[in-house]
Amino acid sequence: MSADLHVRAHQFIAKERVEGLAQAEREWLGAHLQECARCAEFARQTEQALRSLRTAAIPFPSGLASRTQFRVRLRAQELREREPHRRALWLACAVSWACGIFSAPYVWRLFEWFGQLTGMPKLVWELGFGLWWTIPVLFAAVVLLMENARYSDEAGWMR
Ligand SMILES: [Zn+2]
Repeated sequence: MSADLHVRAHQFIAKERVEGLAQAEREWLGAHLQECARCAEFARQTEQALRSLRTAAIPFPSGLASRTQFRVRLRAQELREREPHRRALWLACAVSWACGIFSAPYVWRLFEWFGQLTGMPKLVWELGFGLWWTIPVLFAAVVLLMENARYSDEAGWMR
């Protein structure tokens, strides 16, 4: 068997991995590998080398892909959870404001009564009444700040 045939066989073995072989080339190579133990051994080694390269390379990209998917899922879940949570917060604020408006005359009288009872200056209990109104706003502000802090923590972790 001429050396050219083995060179050609090696070229086909490499070509098969890279761009694939034409039908005639594959048939020729198959026939040659049947007859030639050395080229068959070369083909086997090439196959083995590529397989070990592949199995060594796969865990990293697939792990990376699943980590990315995990983060995307986590983020989507977080957004889904945040949305109703925020609506509930605004609803609570609205209810609180409405209750504040309806109860204002009573609260005013309560503060007035408390002010008279303790001999507190009018300005102080009026200020107390004013602060009473800011409670829902403060509550909402605190919750939003906490949520934003948590979000930026997570954003830092995502990067
Ligand atoms: Zn050969």
